[in-house]
Amino acid sequence: MIQKAFRISDTFTTDDLISSLPADTAYQSAHDKALLIYEPDNDALALHGFLQKIHNSLPDLKLFGMTLLGPLTPDMPTIKNTVCSLLLFDRSEVNIHVMDCTAQDAEDAAAMFTMEAHREQDLKGIMVFVSGFTNHPEIFLEDVSAGFPEVPVIGAQAGSKNPMTDLPLVIAGTETYENAIVAVTFSGKDLHMKTICNVGWNPLGKLHEITETADDGRILRIDYHPATELYTRYLGVRLNDNFRLQCASFPLIEKIGNTFAPRLLYGYGEDGSIIPSVAMKKGTKISLSYTKDIYLLRDSLRCANALSRFGAQGIFLISCLNRLMFLGEEKTRRELSYFRQLSDHYSLGYGSSEILRTGKSGGIMNSTMVAVGMREGDNDVTDTIICHDPELEKYDDEIKPGNDCLVTFFEETTKDLNDIIDELHTAVITDELTGIANRRMLDSHLSWLLHSRSLPLSIMMFDIDHFKEVNDTYGHKIGDRVLCDIAELVKGEVRSSDLFARWGGDEFICVFEKTTLSECLPIASRICRDIRTHEFESVNHVTVSIGVACAHENDTLDKLFGRLDRFLYQAKQEGRDRIAAEK
Ligand code: GH3
Ligand code: MG
Repeated sequence: MIQKAFRISDTFTTDDLISSLPADTAYQSAHDKALLIYEPDNDALALHGFLQKIHNSLPDLKLFGMTLLGPLTPDMPTIKNTVCSLLLFDRSEVNIHVMDCTAQDAEDAAAMFTMEAHREQDLKGIMVFVSGFTNHPEIFLEDVSAGFPEVPVIGAQAGSKNPMTDLPLVIAGTETYENAIVAVTFSGKDLHMKTICNVGWNPLGKLHEITETADDGRILRIDYHPATELYTRYLGVRLNDNFRLQCASFPLIEKIGNTFAPRLLYGYGEDGSIIPSVAMKKGTKISLSYTKDIYLLRDSLRCANALSRFGAQGIFLISCLNRLMFLGEEKTRRELSYFRQLSDHYSLGYGSSEILRTGKSGGIMNSTMVAVGMREGDNDVTDTIICHDPELEKYDDEIKPGNDCLVTFFEETTKDLNDIIDELHTAVITDELTGIANRRMLDSHLSWLLHSRSLPLSIMMFDIDHFKEVNDTYGHKIGDRVLCDIAELVKGEVRSSDLFARWGGDEFICVFEKTTLSECLPIASRICRDIRTHEFESVNHVTVSIGVACAHENDTLDKLFGRLDRFLYQAKQEGRDRIAAEK
């Protein structure tokens, strides 16, 4: 594979591009060829002309890309020229899929793409460009990754020069789209992709929960307070025109799988809402985050060296202007110089969000640099280039700026406090003797299930028969052992998604989500039999009586427990070692 970068300018025009390519022997002999286009002007008409011109002369060159985000502050430098990355493959293939989102939602778009992409053999990577926020790209990504859990999905949400007047566009062939998802597939038997995500920003302070959202994706309440309070209280930010820029260094951060996903804010509402870059669900746990120059630079150097070891023949960087704003111009040049040490021809795009998702991890992010290496064939690089930054290497021995120390202090304190919170939380919801969930956990989980009406829902309550006698005959210690052994036995019978808890004394409860009564009864029978046939230390045999009930529409915790109690009592009355269930 060969990658070549072109910058369209007064000194190298579209005509120059068109005339230079066919003469190139690598271009002539390529099996498949594509041009990734990043366009900074958002002029749909001009862009269309540009695409048409290239297509007319080079019809077998596959065109795709997006428009770029303009500067976040008036004094910020951004890319001024259209930049193109020519990709020439010896054996691999590129295919462009367009999902128009004017008449279909993200789920349909994902289903359509998944069906098309499943026809391609040896799919190794998917590059996605999304035009706007309205078409819920997070849902598209989730569904596509579920269909191709091993294949990395990289890309960006397009940006526009001036968000007030220009719509972001995505490019496929000679067309531009204001409301579409362009997904480009890269397939080949010996095609390899390496993806690295450089998030940089780390969680700071405690975890918060999004407790109310609006249909348009705004966050209304965090921890039941107006969402803006997170910023006004913890960062002392004022609600004025500077809000967005003030918050930019402190994105919200969410964990998706094993990746941190930072989200920037686009603004706030008079009702105390905040507008995140990606629609976020109620119940999502978030925290504020912060970074240091040194983290961003070190991570980028690590990315460059990883791509070098990988033997990348093509390098794709999808980055965020928020990093540029945070690092400043000089340090951004340093950051990019690491990749330039590998190749002058890497591609760099700034959209309004970065995308990197594999399986259940990652998704849409901000403030992040996604670095992707592509290679055809084995890694035959014998003398790997080692990217250096002498200044970065000196950092550890130098006197650090006070701010850097302060950030380290808050990060470490955050980790300590979160470890303590985790420990306390586990203690609060765990039964000390058996290690399974306790009544507090059960009550809160069951209340939530009833509240969210997740039916069918079956519940089983069991109580050891004549347990007093066990205690009286063998002592409390042996009685405790029996309780623990029963907990272990039952744990083996329930799924990890079921909740199994000690209700108190010798009573236990299992909650089976998405399970009907008839599906639950065989499990109850197995549990009853397993306990009956188990050889308990000293005691030999014990039995249990079981009551089984299912949740009804509009059930309350009290009503449900009332019924469960009745069935358990019935099982005891009818002779113990048996099950009584709701009809
Ligand atoms: P039944 O068949 O009617 O359930 O008879 P039972 O003897 O089991 O009566 P009940 O369920 O009312 O009594 C529960 C007994 O469990 C009372 C108490 O001695 C014992 N128990 C409660 N908690 C513990 C504990 O943590 N450890 C031990 N060893 N025993 C406990
Ligand atoms: Mg009992």
